[in-house]
Amino acid sequence: MRAVFLNAVNELVATQVSRPRPEAGESLIRVLACGICGTDRHIYKGEYPSAKPVILGHEFGGLIEEVGAGSKFSVGQLVSVDPNIVCGKCDDCIAGRTAFCPDLTALGVNINGGLAEFVLTPDSQIYPVRTDLNPLHLAFIEPLACSIRGMDLAELKGGEKVAVLGGGVIGLLVVQLAKLAGASEIVLITRQKFRRDVALQIGATKVVDPISEKLADVVKNMDVTFECAGAIETFKDAQVITRRGGSVIVLGLTPADVELEIKPFSIVVNELRIQGSYLNPLTQARAAELVGSGDLKLDILISKVVDLSGVQTILDAPPAEGDIKYIVCP
Ligand code: NAP
Repeated sequence: MRAVFLNAVNELVATQVSRPRPEAGESLIRVLACGICGTDRHIYKGEYPSAKPVILGHEFGGLIEEVGAGSKFSVGQLVSVDPNIVCGKCDDCIAGRTAFCPDLTALGVNINGGLAEFVLTPDSQIYPVRTDLNPLHLAFIEPLACSIRGMDLAELKGGEKVAVLGGGVIGLLVVQLAKLAGASEIVLITRQKFRRDVALQIGATKVVDPISEKLADVVKNMDVTFECAGAIETFKDAQVITRRGGSVIVLGLTPADVELEIKPFSIVVNELRIQGSYLNPLTQARAAELVGSGDLKLDILISKVVDLSGVQTILDAPPAEGDIKYIVCP
């Protein structure tokens, strides 16, 4: 089978390897779609830890090609995959904090993932989806599961004023989740006009270009701000535009060694909650259901669909102006 390996930082190799065979408790999945996300770029550039060599790709799904002995799945079933494998037995797993499992390992990060024709997948990670789902939408289920985690932590009850910093896939999924959760205002702040226009079509009530407008003057007193850009400026901006007693939910990843100064006094007197949101603990099934419901606008987020030979070009350059989601169909 063909696969794209990350051999070293900034070094990808598309190559032919033998197709794995599933043992009991595993299935072989024929990948129909695998998304490329911001985290893949961080991994490629050495800003997020991964095994090497490893087949990248953690946002994928496809058809079950072969099952191990005694499997509950059937050949030909359309499935999504939760790439994050945990022990299920430690205190954190039992408490539902699976992202903190000390044995956490991830398909496409530490073990071979979805940028390949086939992926050997533990059955525990497989979530069947409706048979008529557009296969390209499989690539949105994992990022949606991470976004749902952020929504859970935000505890929206309806009627809140919500800001979203960063108009990539995560930000544009959060905009849609905030709308479904009944937010009264949804402000998307991102630099690219095309993304701002898309946001207005999928639920944002206002969009802001942080370059041409002074953010603090035009966005104030938000109940909840989602930081979905992973930049130092946006992490700072989030604290400025959130009301006293409000929440900042941080989904964006900066490189692991980035540090910045914060003002503890300001956090205390403003009772600001700065809450990280990491991975998709127990949210993959809900994401698969929501994507299957058709309630999200996903086609508008797809910018380019390529085969495995297109991965190198995508990872070598930042996303082109206006592009949102790249999907690989191996
Ligand atoms: P993405 O496509 O790179 O989107 C982030 C966007 O933020 C950028 O494309 C950029 O769009 C915008 N941005 C950057 N600097 C900005 C600024 N100063 N002001 C306003 N907007 C700014 O990435 P993504 O796939 O949506 O993911 C977003 C972040 O979440 C990444 O850091 C990713 O690694 C992380 N992530 C975290 C989790 C988790 O579990 N916590 C899961 C998945 C992804 P413009 O050019 O339009 O400004």
